[in-house]
Amino acid sequence: MNRSIIDEERSGAMHLDVEELQRYSRHLIMPEVTSEGQSRLKAARVLCIGAGGLGSPTALYLAAAGVGTIGIVDFDDVDLSNLQRQILHGTKDIGRGKLESARDRLHDINPQVEIELHKCRFSSENAPHLVSRYDVIVDGSDNFPTRYLSNDVGVFAHKPNVYGSVFRFEGQTTVFAPHLGGPCYRCLFPEPPPPESVPNCAQAGVLGVLPGIIGMLQAIETLKLILGIGESLIGRLLHFDALKVKFRELNLRRDPQCPVCGVRDGAAIPDISPHELKRRMDAGERFELIDVREPFEYEIAQIDGAKLIPLGEIAERLDELKREQPIIVHCHSGMRSAQAVRLLQQRGFAKVYNLEGGIDAWSDQVDPNVPKY
Ligand SMILES: [Zn+2]
Repeated sequence: MNRSIIDEERSGAMHLDVEELQRYSRHLIMPEVTSEGQSRLKAARVLCIGAGGLGSPTALYLAAAGVGTIGIVDFDDVDLSNLQRQILHGTKDIGRGKLESARDRLHDINPQVEIELHKCRFSSENAPHLVSRYDVIVDGSDNFPTRYLSNDVGVFAHKPNVYGSVFRFEGQTTVFAPHLGGPCYRCLFPEPPPPESVPNCAQAGVLGVLPGIIGMLQAIETLKLILGIGESLIGRLLHFDALKVKFRELNLRRDPQCPVCGVRDGAAIPDISPHELKRRMDAGERFELIDVREPFEYEIAQIDGAKLIPLGEIAERLDELKREQPIIVHCHSGMRSAQAVRLLQQRGFAKVYNLEGGIDAWSDQVDPNVPKY
């Protein structure tokens, strides 16, 4: 994942004033961020579901980092028993709405970000409209109906869903984004468990610091998606055990039969354009380019840096592919490579993309020196 989810037209329209240049100076001096990345952050709109244990650290750091608009959905009031972990709120806020308390605290940290308050339960009636107005969802909910709803709405709206959950001394996080190549929550757990079969924080307890750690990881993943840097947690679940101080990572597989994001009629194949491929090459980004045509076609024309693995051989040669890197697959016109992408997705490769129009389109749009046949 090396492509910002914020398009250049929006970030290019942003201007950083003198105060912002000073406020974000520790970002701006990093070559991975610069004023271009900071403008992306300013243009970004993030929806935080919940202003509780996970939402607190996430919103605090997103506001501090300069995410331009943060929407928060919550309907609760601040309770004394929240303060052990919900660090957005203070003792003086007990009895106030969490939204108002959150807004005051976030504006104290950074008055230059917009805070949009949505005082409601996140429901199937309001969720599609709410989500449509944001670029990323940060799921800080503590119950299954909300978690499934935010997943489903995010999948349909093509919005990444930065997931986090905590239980006693353990927590986990990942990014669900089938439109970017990874699985969704229902690929892992197709249906919610029966209500009341799973205890929540109030019933099972949670170490107060734990949502801090998981929520901050959610903030980091959100910032990376916006900046378009690093390796996203798409396709990987990070599990943290506070008692053992151990992080474990599990590779997540997309389920082609998933009731929400499953492949239908080949419509869900993630693709990239020839121009986007050229941009990644020029930027020196790391990815593997795989050519699934036949050797005789490779003799006629090839894209520099592509590795030839004919479609018929790819299932036997998976060990030649680097799972941790994005993989871009191309063929002559995009049909065989779409089959290869589907096969790789089924074998658990999360970041696989089809080159739209194949080498034919590459020759037309990027490099006319590549012969057409
Ligand atoms: Zn799914």
